[in-house]
Amino acid sequence: MAALDGVVPAPARTQDRSAERPLEQPLPARFANTADTDPSLPANRGWGRLALQRARDSRIGLELLEASRIDDAGELDAVLRSAAEAGAAWGARRGAERAQILHRAGQMLAARRFDLIEVMAAEAGKTIDQADPEVSEATDFAHYYAEQARGLDAVDGAAFEPARLTLVTPPWNFPVAIPAGSTLAALAAGSAVVLKPAGPASRCGAVLAQALWDAGVPREVLRFVQVGEEELGRELVTHPTVDRVILTGSYETAELFRSFRPDLPLLAETSGKNAIVVTGSADLDLAVRDVIASAFGHAGQKCSAASLVVLVGPVRRSARFLRQLEDGVRSLTVGWPDDPRTQMGPIIEPAAGKLAHALTSLERGEHWLVQPRQLDGQGRLWSPGVRMNVKAGSPFHQTEYFGPVLGVMTADTLTEALELQNGVAYGLTAGLHSLDPEEIGHWLDTVEAGNVYVNRGITGAIVRRQPFGGWKRSSVGPGTKAGGPSYLMGLGSWRRREATM
Ligand code: GLU
Repeated sequence: MAALDGVVPAPARTQDRSAERPLEQPLPARFANTADTDPSLPANRGWGRLALQRARDSRIGLELLEASRIDDAGELDAVLRSAAEAGAAWGARRGAERAQILHRAGQMLAARRFDLIEVMAAEAGKTIDQADPEVSEATDFAHYYAEQARGLDAVDGAAFEPARLTLVTPPWNFPVAIPAGSTLAALAAGSAVVLKPAGPASRCGAVLAQALWDAGVPREVLRFVQVGEEELGRELVTHPTVDRVILTGSYETAELFRSFRPDLPLLAETSGKNAIVVTGSADLDLAVRDVIASAFGHAGQKCSAASLVVLVGPVRRSARFLRQLEDGVRSLTVGWPDDPRTQMGPIIEPAAGKLAHALTSLERGEHWLVQPRQLDGQGRLWSPGVRMNVKAGSPFHQTEYFGPVLGVMTADTLTEALELQNGVAYGLTAGLHSLDPEEIGHWLDTVEAGNVYVNRGITGAIVRRQPFGGWKRSSVGPGTKAGGPSYLMGLGSWRRREATM
């Protein structure tokens, strides 16, 4: 890893100083969330700009990626068998020992913040305000699951038997935090990991894997493989040594995996179609801000993103709300991540299929409040769009698009708004803006989503504080939440210990 070569200063921090803590020092005994880089400090702004400039023609991760390519089933078979063998030994270590290595991994990720931001900007088009918290989240996962690994030793009369080999197949939209979380959870539980990065973000996966190895995760226990999805994807999922699969991706991918192998032990966080409800009692200024951030952060490419806003009662006709929404959306600066002014970056690939359709055409009765426009030659850079009058049961109400387009719906009452919000196949995140305790209570009792947020945005769950996971078609498997107290339990099973007399 070339980038930490002494030229690049570590980010200055206002609160948490763990990034600068040398690896030899005592490890943190308790979990505390990692602070993001503070952009109010001039040194950090210079540092961030440097990472983005480097991203322009960055080659970081490329070499490892090339070296990790697997082209035939025989080679894959050998890698998986040796990983499963290493997994048995890793799982036999004490949790406390694995915890030590995982804490080091957390420190290494924090130390490599610069490299990770560079590769996320270069490969996945992440702006710095989106990439920086991802590193904090990855670091949090390491320390949080490390402490849980320690906890696995402490249960009398029962022993935790981890999966021997876990296949991790992350998405490209959180190309560091999600593969880090899944990998570190499996390692903490005592399982070996085969990490197959998402095609469009494979270099991010490579930089991550390298950091984990450099922190002391044994290479035999964490294997990083790049395989063509078409050719060897099925081999990977159906291989007899793979006894858990952690997938973050679409519901269709989860179904595909299950069609390959019906008894597949799958922990999957899948699609979302998430709405924020805004009632007449809401603080509308706050609501507008949170809707925009939730809909257009990372150009809407989050499972957790707000794709719909439902205006209730008087807000339906609130000229003030709609004008503020329109102004706010139009004021977003769209651009490439190497320009520090950019607030909303590109989409991962040129818009195609249903997303292209959602960006360019309306359904019956709808009109644009803000019409999206293509700003580059390829179709990756779009200005954000807002469509009005989205109808219950229409394709825009029901479909996940994963891009910078928000639909506005209306309802007479909160009950009706809840019907719209719940009236989709998924149940990942949901938001309410209301200052009325009765409304809030009713909404919390009725909403069908894994992560529910009142009077704030609906993206950016934080390890331990807001474990992340969905209901309905947003989750396949045990339903345990990432970054939460039970996630490791899905990665093995408890066995009674024989009593010793
Ligand atoms: N955990 C992320 C959040 O809370 C979303 C992850 C995803 O898009 O899969 O925003």
